[in-house]
Amino acid sequence: MWHDTGTHAGVLPAGNPIQPGTHAESPETKRRFKNLLEVSGLYEQLLQIAPRPATDEEILRVHTPDYIDRLKAESASPRGGDGGMLTPFGPGSYEIAALSAGGVIAAVDAVLDGKADNAYALVRPPGHHAEPDMGMGFCLLANAAIAGRHALEARGLERIAYVDWDVHHGNGTQKVFWEDPQALTISIHQDRNFPPDSGFMSDIGGGAGEGYNINVPLPAGSGVGAYEATFERVVLPALRAFKPDLIFVPSGFDAGAHDPLGRMMMHGEGYRSLTNKLLTVADELCDGRIVMSHEGGYNAPTVPFFGLAVMEALSGIKTEVEDPFMPLFSGMGGQELQPHQEQLISEAERLIERL
Ligand SMILES: [Zn+2]
Repeated sequence: MWHDTGTHAGVLPAGNPIQPGTHAESPETKRRFKNLLEVSGLYEQLLQIAPRPATDEEILRVHTPDYIDRLKAESASPRGGDGGMLTPFGPGSYEIAALSAGGVIAAVDAVLDGKADNAYALVRPPGHHAEPDMGMGFCLLANAAIAGRHALEARGLERIAYVDWDVHHGNGTQKVFWEDPQALTISIHQDRNFPPDSGFMSDIGGGAGEGYNINVPLPAGSGVGAYEATFERVVLPALRAFKPDLIFVPSGFDAGAHDPLGRMMMHGEGYRSLTNKLLTVADELCDGRIVMSHEGGYNAPTVPFFGLAVMEALSGIKTEVEDPFMPLFSGMGGQELQPHQEQLISEAERLIERL
């Protein structure tokens, strides 16, 4: 919560002709997610996994030395710095980012060591936009990719898969594993939201990794029906074909209805449903091993309920809390799969044949 993104108007820095206030990526959604876990009584029933900072060696499996040196120098300055496109940070943010990446590593170790069946790393700053040589979209270090490299190189796994349901394209994860057949990277995102001109279905990986990157750029306005169909027809068959030893979920809740940085209509029961589908396939393939790492989600009142639904599904514990947004969101027009979304999903189905 100490990672300081500064005073901005949404994502715009001070100096633009609009009054600056809280940056779009602030502690609020994350803090309230944790608060709701506590209020619901779920938090005290969960195993707490202490994060630790990722080491330089772990971070350098993904990032370039020049980029890390620059981040460290700017983080040591009283003014802070900027990781890259739209990624401002304050003093000390490098150390916090190392803790964020290390939190996902600790979650991986807890699951691989059998201490937890699955894990959710509620970490900040997020990671899925960060590329090897630059930060991007509020992400300094590629948390889930760093943890994935740890799983492959330090823990000896043979295959890992990513199912990124953040509303924005998981460009960083795609780039890190572009030529790597050991990692299946799947991103379900809003078509050309962020980064601009990224996340096309034709981007399938390169070299030895060709065929191991799947992008499903859903049209703006997609609801729970489109997401469930994408999972049933693309994500689950792809996972069954690839047979990962561990499934990562870069988990942004910005595909939720009312999110300021997305234009989708997911709701709490939708996230619960997607989580249950992943749990079923994870039980079949890899002893239920799923590690989720927190990414985006910018509407402070709704994100906690999406998160609680996911945590209830992961833990198998249903709390007494009723999601007060469900009547509002489930009744929105277009929640069912629409013909133009169906067409896109049919095209994406063909990508599985390459696996
Ligand atoms: Zn996002």
